Amino acid sequence: MIDKASSLYEKTCKCRHCQASFTTKRVRGGSLTMEHRDSDFYTRFKEQSLNPILYTVNVCPACGFSFTDQFKEKLTPREKDLVNEQIAAKWTPKDFGRIRNVPEAIVSYKLAIFAAELTDQPHSVKAGLYLRLAWLYRSLEMTAEELRLIGMAVDEYELSYIHSDYSRGDKEMSEVRLLYLIGELYRRVEKYDLAIRYFGKALSYRNTTIESGIIRMAQDQWQLAREEYKEKQKSSKIG
Ligand SMILES: [Zn+2]
Repeated sequence: MIDKASSLYEKTCKCRHCQASFTTKRVRGGSLTMEHRDSDFYTRFKEQSLNPILYTVNVCPACGFSFTDQFKEKLTPREKDLVNEQIAAKWTPKDFGRIRNVPEAIVSYKLAIFAAELTDQPHSVKAGLYLRLAWLYRSLEMTAEELRLIGMAVDEYELSYIHSDYSRGDKEMSEVRLLYLIGELYRRVEKYDLAIRYFGKALSYRNTTIESGIIRMAQDQWQLAREEYKEKQKSSKIG
């Protein structure tokens, strides 16, 4: 059994709204054993209760403003007013700085999504929140909720592609990776024509990208999307 306490450490954060200083848990790099990586990059670990996505969101215990490290550093005066009215004024102090279970992590994402929408965070930041929340629902096998969030994530990723803000939310995100991910999320919500179009865009980087793993995944998932599309057309004719 892995010792939970020793795999976590305390990180000190400063609230981007009220400037209060507080601590939150983070997972120590290298303390987990990867078990499986889903085709949309959700990584499952042998120690699922220590999945780092449980600890992505920082929740200020003083005012309730919830954010990730990718949020904008500063809020505008108007955004501050909105956060005061809609979050801080309604907040009952609660500490998310301890060990989190999945339902608690889900609450932290809902708080961060509300804060992100209120303060106009980049599309890529919102997309990342929706996708991670979808993964948490997947881990609970709550498929309807998962797919609803995947649908919201793909809309934001598409806007992030159009506005080229994708490296803001995730430093590892390249254009080819983003195109692949948009395709894969569309495939999961059964929008096969769009999935095929985005896999095609990813595959056009075949000769220019060093991310050959992504190209292979795009080929496999493009093939799968085409087969699923045909199946769906067949069954809708029969049905
Ligand atoms: Zn605060």
